[in-house]
Amino acid sequence: MTEEAVCVVICKSKRGQAQSIAEEICQQAAEHGFTADISCLSKHDKYNLDSESRPVVFVVSTTGDGDPPDTALKFVRKIKNKSLPHDHLSHLRYALLGLGDTNYANFCNGGKTIDSYLQKLGAKHFYATGHADDGTGLEVVVDPWIEGLWDALKKAFSTMSTSDQQTLSDCTQDSNHQNASDQKKNLEVDLQLLKLSEVDSPKGKTVTSDSIATEIGSTSSVASLKESVPPLSESVLNVPALPPSYLEILLVGTENVEETVLPDKDGYFEVPISKAVQLTQDDAVKTAILLELDISQQQEQVYQPGDAFDILCPNRDSEVEELLLKLDLQMQKNCTVQVNLLKNTSKKAAKVPLHIPQNGSLQFILTWCLEIRSTPKKAFLRALVDFTQNASEKRRLLELCSKQGSADYNSFVRDSSVCVLDLLRAFPSCCPPLSLLFEHLPKLQPRAYSAASSSLQHPGKVHLVFNVVEFPARPEHPARKGLCTGWLVDHVSSILEPHGTALASERPGTSALPKVHVRARPSSTFHLPSDPCVPVVMVGPGTGVAPFIGFLQQREKEREANQEATFGEMWLFFGCRHKDKDFLFREELEKFVHNGTLSHLIVCFSRDEPDAAETVNRPTYVQHNLILHAKNLAKILLEDKGCLYVCGDAKNMAKDVNDTLLEIIGNELQLDKLDAMKIVAGLREDKRYLQDIWS
Ligand code: FAD
Repeated sequence: MTEEAVCVVICKSKRGQAQSIAEEICQQAAEHGFTADISCLSKHDKYNLDSESRPVVFVVSTTGDGDPPDTALKFVRKIKNKSLPHDHLSHLRYALLGLGDTNYANFCNGGKTIDSYLQKLGAKHFYATGHADDGTGLEVVVDPWIEGLWDALKKAFSTMSTSDQQTLSDCTQDSNHQNASDQKKNLEVDLQLLKLSEVDSPKGKTVTSDSIATEIGSTSSVASLKESVPPLSESVLNVPALPPSYLEILLVGTENVEETVLPDKDGYFEVPISKAVQLTQDDAVKTAILLELDISQQQEQVYQPGDAFDILCPNRDSEVEELLLKLDLQMQKNCTVQVNLLKNTSKKAAKVPLHIPQNGSLQFILTWCLEIRSTPKKAFLRALVDFTQNASEKRRLLELCSKQGSADYNSFVRDSSVCVLDLLRAFPSCCPPLSLLFEHLPKLQPRAYSAASSSLQHPGKVHLVFNVVEFPARPEHPARKGLCTGWLVDHVSSILEPHGTALASERPGTSALPKVHVRARPSSTFHLPSDPCVPVVMVGPGTGVAPFIGFLQQREKEREANQEATFGEMWLFFGCRHKDKDFLFREELEKFVHNGTLSHLIVCFSRDEPDAAETVNRPTYVQHNLILHAKNLAKILLEDKGCLYVCGDAKNMAKDVNDTLLEIIGNELQLDKLDAMKIVAGLREDKRYLQDIWS
């Protein structure tokens, strides 16, 4: 096949998912006889859509607010320009893969925005748009979308050469694409059979797919991470192409290597944790902890209530040690690591990952730079196969990354949050080289926490509140805590004060305080309205109350300083499980009510038994209380031009609150759901319905 050229344009986010998907597309393009270049949307000199004659593939991520990432803003402004003629991009043939998360409002809006402006300028799809959902797993849409891309490209090239004017079918599709031709499927099946017939058993005997299938099928009747059952165990498999390796790692020196320390860079500063208090009773279902960080020495760390702080956290020592043991690298953990690009790698646009420092020690890199708890992608599983000795284990890894094994991958890898260490435990004959981990493990991301204080009330300090995340034991992995929250709770154990300790109390003594690396993460919108007369409704159950404590402290100080001024009403809808166990900031909230800062505190307790005397059903969750106050809420939002703030759990609460808001507005204005949705969209656009939600 002659090589046809494709241009892949990406709109990157901080997490780098669009980048790795674009790289995957480029890699596969070569295998399908295409050449492909990657350009970032922000690098305007690297591509020119105005004269692009190659088909273009866009991979577009979305930020939490539903906007395209910063890298795309200039591009979006350009294609939004109303003075451009409607056929400005009529020469352009493109496909677009949008990345988003249905836990957030405006799912895939970054991709949808770019898609709609390209269409308005006359550009044509050569392949249906894909919308991948990080909430359920990007790969559910991404893998089949890429699989179908190649046939669509072939058709696009033939269409473009026979009739450049002919338009291609124009449709949008959110679900799996099954576009690969039967002919290509057959080819893959043949190739896979060939690969399987080359699998070596531990004794060096060559085994066929049939014999491996029989072996596995006969040992178990219940599927698990390690074991499969028919029909999968007897299937011929389509597996992803082996990702080319591209890194070469050198471990240098074992003695006298200085301990690598986290540099104060990228805006991070090391600050003391001056206080840590358990906010919940010992028998509460979840443990919430308040940290007070002393940021008085850091001029750069100014913040407003509504902003958050990023915290750098390390991987757990025990997990790093076990990983070193599994990789047979325990003796080299203090070696300096030099990372180079492998000469002659066939990987397109190969680069040494920026998050891996040169000359850091191996232990440092595994502890601070790589997300070793991340869920391995199918390409990683495929790569692990070649470093696995045992034939049954090889077969199971192939199944888990295969098209036929998708359901097993989803339930035993993705939904079980399996990490590379869990795989190495489950498949003990697998011993990958370090380079493979460096190629496939993403950057260890900081975790964000909303400021739960105002600097007017606590100069030089910021308060953060978090729940210690607990993952129960599963067949695939032992019980564990969330990475950052589990680390923080251990890290502050020497200064942790019990439930009931007054926040204002001074810590006796000046014993060495634990420290943490933090960086302010300002919000562009989640702040108190600039006009203090505007009424405010805050919905923040559990730790979602954090930013509202900051709002209220700020408002309390503003009221003290401007006693003659008029301030809008403040409503807070709070909820937790038990009034006496996890009612966070109870005394402080009651004080705000008492001194008039908080006009209405409306609470609910989802697990408290109703009193015997109660005749009506008590509200269980915040949305039930919103319904009870529907008239006030509608008046505040629709007549008084007030603001609604929602903070906390993205998975359930934010969706339920959104549905309740639609119901309230629909009932109040006698509108059907669609029209109510338009009103709510308008509130969002006016920045009067703001969310700070996380999952
Ligand atoms: P991780 O180890 O990162 O696990 C987090 C998620 O991964 C889990 O929720 C789960 O979905 C999945 N997961 C990982 N391992 C498993 C497993 N074995 N089994 C099942 N699921 C698994 N949090 C607060 O508590 N307070 C705040 O004020 C706050 N503010 C935030 C503000 C912003 C802007 C953002 C983006 C997030 C905020 N968060 C807040 C969330 C916080 O950043 C972290 O995500 C949270 O604390 C969990 O971090 P972790 O490292 O302990 O958990």
